[in-house]
Amino acid sequence: MKQSKSSYFNLLVVTLLFAAINQNCFAQEQYKENKKITAIEEYKGGAFYPVQQYEQVNTKKNPKNIILFIGDGMGLAHIYASMTANGGSLFLQNFVHCGFSKTYSTSDYITDSGAGGTALACGVKTYNGAIGVDPDKRPVENIREMAEKKGLKTGLVSTSAINHATPASFMAHQASRNSYDDIAADFLKSNIDVFIGGGVRFFENRKDGRNLSKELRDKGYQVLYKIKDIQKVKSGKLAGLTAGEHNAPMPERGEMLVPATETAINLLSQGKKGFFLMVEGSEIDFLAHNNQAPGVILETLDLDRAIGAALAFAAKNKETLIIVTADHETGGMTINEGNNKTGDITAKFTSPEHTGVCVPVFAYGPGADQFGGFMENTEIAKKMMKLLKVK
Ligand code: MG
Ligand code: ZN
Repeated sequence: MKQSKSSYFNLLVVTLLFAAINQNCFAQEQYKENKKITAIEEYKGGAFYPVQQYEQVNTKKNPKNIILFIGDGMGLAHIYASMTANGGSLFLQNFVHCGFSKTYSTSDYITDSGAGGTALACGVKTYNGAIGVDPDKRPVENIREMAEKKGLKTGLVSTSAINHATPASFMAHQASRNSYDDIAADFLKSNIDVFIGGGVRFFENRKDGRNLSKELRDKGYQVLYKIKDIQKVKSGKLAGLTAGEHNAPMPERGEMLVPATETAINLLSQGKKGFFLMVEGSEIDFLAHNNQAPGVILETLDLDRAIGAALAFAAKNKETLIIVTADHETGGMTINEGNNKTGDITAKFTSPEHTGVCVPVFAYGPGADQFGGFMENTEIAKKMMKLLKVK
């Protein structure tokens, strides 16, 4: 009797334990698959902004300047949902030369922003997590460095920390995207003319005790922290660090990406030999990882307005090639319902991660007609290098 009671108790313990382990496994799998995120699928249309149509310019010439826009994680659904959210139009509609970029890396069918950024900056496929290095971890020169060497002015703008994977690919050479302090230090090795983004702590609160902002000031940079002050800069070198790490997502961020883009273009276009500028809408990816349709749309609309600012310059200047693309798609987003009159959207996400689908490439200006059809992501960099005559 006593023994029987004991073995019953043992069986109960084992059963409960097994159930607990099972539960745990399931929970972990759930975590891996869903990251415990609660998707927001509905976007309620707000106020629309007016979209201007710009005249097309001669695509047969070589550009003197290139502005590359990267919407991190920005697939066609992100763009078209945003177009609907803005009453059926975007500045992107000025781009009549379009193609598709194959985003896979050497290590993975689905790329990360390190390998994706390196492909767009350096023209080489590499492994996920790499920043400006090839699969053997050897540094590869990026288009911004090539342009700088040839005497062109160069700049980087992002809403994320400026040393985050995408902008880092146009600046640094590190085996891992997580070497944030080292990537920030690589900015001091360059002669970049303007950079604006987040990331103050990687410049001023470092393990090695260096104060990179002081070092930048010693090199002649104006180091500023508020977009209002950054906007007032009319000449000279500029480092704008507008957040401790990443800037807040929209709408909390407010006007940052558009004035940062305008300021960078204004400073860079003062050079005689032309310029290269990369502008990243970094947080389309962040919101898509979280499967938040409203956030994805607000971030994409913010990038589109920055593209509008670049178009206003390029349509007048006529020597500027603008490329808009993404490093990969995030969220496996699709559109299940929409209304061009109200701007309402119902989206669905198939993943909390990046996906393998190809991403669109849009081109406007001299050389734009070379960006049609399917292309490797690395070809975008190679075409830009050739058109700008920096390689
Ligand atoms: Mg990024
Ligand atoms: Zn991502």
